[in-house]
Amino acid sequence: MVWGRLQGHVVVLGVLAAALVVLGAGPAQATTTAGGTVAGRPCRSGYVVLTFDDGPSRTQTPRLLKILTDRKVPAVFFMVGSRVASAPNVARRVAAAGFEVGNHTWSHPLLTRLSDRDVRWQLQHTRRQLRTDRVGFTRLMRPPYGGIDDRVRRLVTDLGLTPVLWTIDSRDWVGGSSRQIAREILTHLRPHQRNVVLQHDGVTNSPASVAAVPYVVHEARRRGYCFTRLNDAGRMVTPATTGDHRAVATALAGPAPVIPAVRRYGALDPWLPFRGRTLAS
Ligand SMILES: [Zn+2]
Repeated sequence: MVWGRLQGHVVVLGVLAAALVVLGAGPAQATTTAGGTVAGRPCRSGYVVLTFDDGPSRTQTPRLLKILTDRKVPAVFFMVGSRVASAPNVARRVAAAGFEVGNHTWSHPLLTRLSDRDVRWQLQHTRRQLRTDRVGFTRLMRPPYGGIDDRVRRLVTDLGLTPVLWTIDSRDWVGGSSRQIAREILTHLRPHQRNVVLQHDGVTNSPASVAAVPYVVHEARRRGYCFTRLNDAGRMVTPATTGDHRAVATALAGPAPVIPAVRRYGALDPWLPFRGRTLAS
């Protein structure tokens, strides 16, 4: 029964997405809707970062990649090292498509309960796996369950990693429908605030969470938000963080951004979600 309901939502979202394609409704463009014309200034409400934890999953992650790339939405994937080891091709595809990959430990423990040595092992072993499998990764790290204290934070930063939490919990792990998950995200978006959304591509309810993404993207863009990514310091990449308003606004706003080719760690660092890149150290 649950699957029946999920499938229903997937169909509804699919139809909605198809309708948008037909209408050619690009993100953050002036768009006429039944409610009237939506003002066209790009990113007028600010920025949103989507993050997906606990993958990679052989089934859900590829599905999610297609949804995101089709819509030119950047995202951060906080991967579990042991899952990278069992699906290295999927992990590599995520990074090769230009998405950010972060460290979500080897076996998803609550780090605050581990010894210093074990915390380091969890992070280093995951990093080694990503290197072995040639998965490009960033300095971003997310503690499982958001479990972090001063001791763990120091251990994490001593390894050169940046701990990143979230501001919006989609609660997809609780088991809600796509509709509930989308609503949970959209009702908590705050204009001109740090909007970092937590979803999962590697848990039981991930099919519903992934199916919620097209609607979240469409609706957030309609409300004037742009999607962006996190830099290695864990900050949202916006005109304020890059100092290059024009390049970022162009990259984030248009349906088919044309931005200058820059290196991953170049002086200019707009999001580059669809460009292959080399391994980060
Ligand atoms: Zn997790």
